[in-house]
Amino acid sequence: MDFKGQVALVTGGARGIGRAISENLAKKGVSLAIADVSIESAAQAAKELATLGVKTSAVRMDVSKSDEVGKAFGDIASEFGRLDILVNNAGITKDGLLMRMKEEDWDAVININLKGVFLCSKEAVKVMVRQKYGRIVNIASIVAFMGNPGQANYSASKAGIVGLTKTIAKEYASRGITVNAVAPGFIATAMTDALAENVKQEMLKSIPAGKFGSVEDVAGAVVFLASPESGYITGNVVHVNGGMYM
Ligand code: NAD
Repeated sequence: MDFKGQVALVTGGARGIGRAISENLAKKGVSLAIADVSIESAAQAAKELATLGVKTSAVRMDVSKSDEVGKAFGDIASEFGRLDILVNNAGITKDGLLMRMKEEDWDAVININLKGVFLCSKEAVKVMVRQKYGRIVNIASIVAFMGNPGQANYSASKAGIVGLTKTIAKEYASRGITVNAVAPGFIATAMTDALAENVKQEMLKSIPAGKFGSVEDVAGAVVFLASPESGYITGNVVHVNGGMYM
C-alpha cells in the first residue's frame, strides 16, 4: 500500500482503537493529526508516534462542537497543507435502559458519536473535493446491526453512522472520495473494560472466534479502507467481530 506524502486526521486518536489506527497509519508513513478532547493524551500520543519518523501533531477538538471542529481543520490545513484520510473514531457510551435513560445522555451520545461524524466529514470533504482524492473511514459498531439492551442512544448513533456513510459515499464517489465504515464487535479497550466480568463471559459465548478482538484487528481493516488500493470500495461496512454477527 502506497501512502507516500499522505496526511490523516484521526478523531479520538489519543487512546484505544484510535491510537492503534494512528500508529498503524504512522507505520505506513502517513503524517498524522491526532485530534482528541483530551489534548494531554493527544500530545503524548503525537510525541510517541513521531518516533516512527512521521510528522505528527496533537489537536484539541470536541467533535460535537462545530466551532472547535472548524478551528481544528483550519489549523491542520495550515500545518499540513492537505488531508487525504479522515478517520471518524471518537465515540462515547452512556448506557441505561430506555425507561431510565436521561435525555442529556441521549443527546451527549448522539452529538459526539453521530453529529461529530457529520461535522468532521463536512470539513474534510471541502479539502478532499479540491484535491480530487480522499478516504473517510467511520467507526460504527456491531450494535448498529444487532441492537443491545441498555444502549438505545449508542446503537442509534452507530446505525445513524451507517446511513450517513452511504449517503456521503454516494454524494462524493465521482470526486475520488470513498466513504466506508468499520463495525467492530467486542474489542478489548478502556470502553469495554468497564463492563462487569459476568457480562464479558456471557458475550464470549456468542463469539465464534472464541476471543475478544484487539485494537490491531480494527486498525488493519481501517488502514486498508484508508489506502489508495481500496478506491473502488465505497459505502460499505466492514464487520470486524470474530463472527459474532454476519
Ligand atoms: P476509548 O474510550 O478507549 O477512546 C475514545 C477516545 O475518544 C478517547 O481518546 C477520548 O478522549 C476521545 N473522545 C471522547 N469524546 C470525544 C469528543 N467529544 N471529541 C473528541 N474526542 C473524544 O474508546 P474505544 O474503545 O477506543 O472506541 C473508539 C471507537 O470505537 C468509538 O467510536 C467506539 O464507539 C467504537 N467501538 C468500540 C468498540 C469496543 O469494543 N471498544 C466496539 C465497537 C465500536
